[in-house]
Amino acid sequence: VVKNGKIVGYNVTGNKQWISNGGVADLYTVLALAPGGPSWFLVERNMEGFVPGKHEDKHGIRLSNTAGLSLDGVYVPKENLIGEVEGRGLLQAQAVFGYTRLMVAAFGLGAGWEAVEQAVRYSQQRIQAGGPLSDKQGYTHKLIVPHAVRLEAARAYIEETANRLDGGEHGLQTEGSIAKYSATEAGNRAAEDAIQALGGYGYTRDFPVEKIKRDIKITCIYEGTSEIMEMTIYRGRWQEHLKTRGRYYADIADRMDALHDRNPNVGARSAGLALRALAAVMEECRLQKLTRHQTVTFKLGRFIALAEQAYVFSEAAAKEKYSESVRFDVQAWQAMARIFARDAALAIAAEGPAMVLGASDGAGGLYSAVNMEEVQAAQKGMTADMDLVAAKLKQTFKAK
Ligand SMILES: Cc1cc2nc3c(=O)[nH]c(=O)nc-3n(C[C@H](O)[C@H](O)[C@H](O)COP(=O)(O)OP(=O)(O)OC[C@H]3O[C@@H](n4cnc5c(N)ncnc54)[C@H](O)[C@@H]3O)c2cc1C
Repeated sequence: VVKNGKIVGYNVTGNKQWISNGGVADLYTVLALAPGGPSWFLVERNMEGFVPGKHEDKHGIRLSNTAGLSLDGVYVPKENLIGEVEGRGLLQAQAVFGYTRLMVAAFGLGAGWEAVEQAVRYSQQRIQAGGPLSDKQGYTHKLIVPHAVRLEAARAYIEETANRLDGGEHGLQTEGSIAKYSATEAGNRAAEDAIQALGGYGYTRDFPVEKIKRDIKITCIYEGTSEIMEMTIYRGRWQEHLKTRGRYYADIADRMDALHDRNPNVGARSAGLALRALAAVMEECRLQKLTRHQTVTFKLGRFIALAEQAYVFSEAAAKEKYSESVRFDVQAWQAMARIFARDAALAIAAEGPAMVLGASDGAGGLYSAVNMEEVQAAQKGMTADMDLVAAKLKQTFKAK
């Protein structure tokens, strides 16, 4: 709206579905297309033409109000343009995502861990075939230990990213996306298997895991779905791969080899194998121009998240003092870091060439470049490490 040649306000029109607290808030931040580009506006509930929609009947987080919003020519004064300059909306949104994605990552981590804890406690009381479920490897090593490991890898990554943000770093969108994607997917899978771990009881409303499973699912959807995260992660790191001519992950792998020489207990060797396999897969994708296939780019996003968590977890597990949020001793956390890094290396070395072959006529020298022989050799000790983690989980989360 222009008066005497000057912008005095804006008439905003449009609809937006799925707004948390949409039906109950007094103040809304709305991204709208201004003449100068996408811009954020503060919209007040009582402004004319603004109508919140009905509360959605949802699968989970049922106490959280979610409603659509409708704006029909809502007059918003110029003072309500956030940042006072038009066209900065997408950059502002990206900057906020750096924090909010980390926040949702923490939701996934916390809810996922609650489900695992419930399962660990339950498994010590439930007697089957002459002993507690917590003593049965087929149960613990499938339904509990892998989830605890993935959640701790995500924790290490979240904390590393949070510390960097606290240290004043900017532009950590890729890291925020890796944290969100990894923690929420790990938490969601953990909650799913916690239901399985409780058997029939897990399927009832008398036990909390059923509710956790419903509540946690949203973390894989809002603030950017897991698929959009895979795309974002791929885009961010693909640029690094091109800019450094493939050295980006090879350099970190060198760092991991040096860490392994100093401390052979934190999975750094396997993390290095994962990173080198990733660099080789990315380079083969570049040579064969395979990123024209969207499925390849999304899978690369997943491999990147695995390899980055592996090295960040190894580095964190090698520290003299762990963060106060870590509830395990050095022995347990280092075993978890080893398990995660082995899994990451195996996933990338096995699935990477398969993905390349699936989208092309051949995988070239990729089979030897991913070094499957060493990746397999690095699996030695896996069962013993999982036994150790299962025992530590029992000690840490005793039956009530
Ligand atoms: C409970 C709840 C609360 C929410 N709160 C807010 C809020 O406060 N503020 C807000 O702005 N939004 C909010 N949202 C919106 C939320 O962020 C979106 O629902 C989410 O980003 C997914 O968008 P969509 O629903 O349009 O799904 P779509 O984008 O249609 O996605 C559907 C499926 O397609 C996939 N997909 C989408 N694009 C592509 C692509 N290019 N290539 C391949 N696959 C693709 C997705 O990953 C997904 O699996 C909320 C949603 C819910 C359910």
